[in-house]
Amino acid sequence: MDLDSHAEELASDLGVDKAEVKADLANLVEYSVPIDEAKGSLRRKYGDGTDSGTPSTADIGEITPDSGNVTVTARVLTAGKRSIRYQGSDQVIVEGRLADGTGAVDYTAWEEFGLSPGDTVTVGNASVREWDGEPELNLGESTSVSLEDDPLAVPYEVGGEAELAELRSGDRARTIAVRVLECERRTIDGRDGETEILSGVFGDESGRLPFTNWDPDPAIEEGASVRIENAYVREFRGVPEVNVSEFSTVSPLEEPVVVGEDAPEMPIGEAVATGGVYDVQLVGDVLAVRDGSGLIQRCPECNRVIQKGQCRTHGEVEGVDDLRVKAILDDGTGTVTVVLDDELTETVYGGSLEDALEEAREAMDQEVVADRIRERIVGREYRVRGHLSVDEYGANLDAATFAESDDDPADRARALLAEVDA
Ligand SMILES: [Zn+2]
Repeated sequence: MDLDSHAEELASDLGVDKAEVKADLANLVEYSVPIDEAKGSLRRKYGDGTDSGTPSTADIGEITPDSGNVTVTARVLTAGKRSIRYQGSDQVIVEGRLADGTGAVDYTAWEEFGLSPGDTVTVGNASVREWDGEPELNLGESTSVSLEDDPLAVPYEVGGEAELAELRSGDRARTIAVRVLECERRTIDGRDGETEILSGVFGDESGRLPFTNWDPDPAIEEGASVRIENAYVREFRGVPEVNVSEFSTVSPLEEPVVVGEDAPEMPIGEAVATGGVYDVQLVGDVLAVRDGSGLIQRCPECNRVIQKGQCRTHGEVEGVDDLRVKAILDDGTGTVTVVLDDELTETVYGGSLEDALEEAREAMDQEVVADRIRERIVGREYRVRGHLSVDEYGANLDAATFAESDDDPADRARALLAEVDA
């Protein structure tokens, strides 16, 4: 159909002047508005009985945060229940992803629609809102869901199976098979008073992530291998954390899950861009040792580093001596602040806390300790493993290991280039 025929059709549908419609249509098309969308907007402009609240039938790949209300026919990839506190009361919602041949989109269902992974459904009148820069469908009171008989073929896997290294904050309804590497029972002050939770670390072949189990499941104990359906991931202290809720299904696995020994190695820029990695290896040059390194004093109450005997929260206190290093590591793609605890600091300093105190006393200046550390590590290349948090305090890597790199610099440059080209 050419523009003229489109205009003819619209004009007769709407009972308005064809020349006028054609001018409007030509205008919209000139601004690269797809013809169907242009016709839709003119129908709304001239009002054809179906009022402007009528949702347009949409391909998922074309949905934007500005799409308003839409109707889609889609395959349910995942559907996970979760309880949230909304306007003062607990509400069970279902979250997951829907897909058609053109794309996939996250959804939140505020009513029970009985969505189940693998179903093909037509979702009528879902509202689109923006979440983290991406469109998300909201299925509420005025949404209808009908089950289709013919399964829609989609270029996505149904189900939320994932490896730990793939998980990102915001993921929902994921299925994982993991080994419980660390697990402790804690009492917290939850939203409904004191409650017991489990927290610890999960591992699989791809990596490790911290977890919280809000409704302690007996199958989750140190050393156990479990399969968990319907877990969600949210950011906690700058890294993704797996959340296992009362709606998650936990089943013990006979075969122990193999946990990888090595943490994934990433270019610093890429690692920072993920928003936080629980266990990662970075290789770079130490550019500088920051202030607040070497011999320091901590508040006996809150353990924070104090200046001149003053804690920001607790005022004048008797400081406790400690050692630490905050070093800036750079690999050309980005920088992080690597934080070394007392033990790693003793190693790079080449002495104990007592040695450091003695050296500071002799020099009558505790900065001599940081200076010695600077001399030893600045300008050298290190391989660091630990957990990277990215938040309002910047990108910090709490080091578990810190060792001079034995990589051939030329090899690493090539690997980095390959990474950039990929
Ligand atoms: Zn304090």
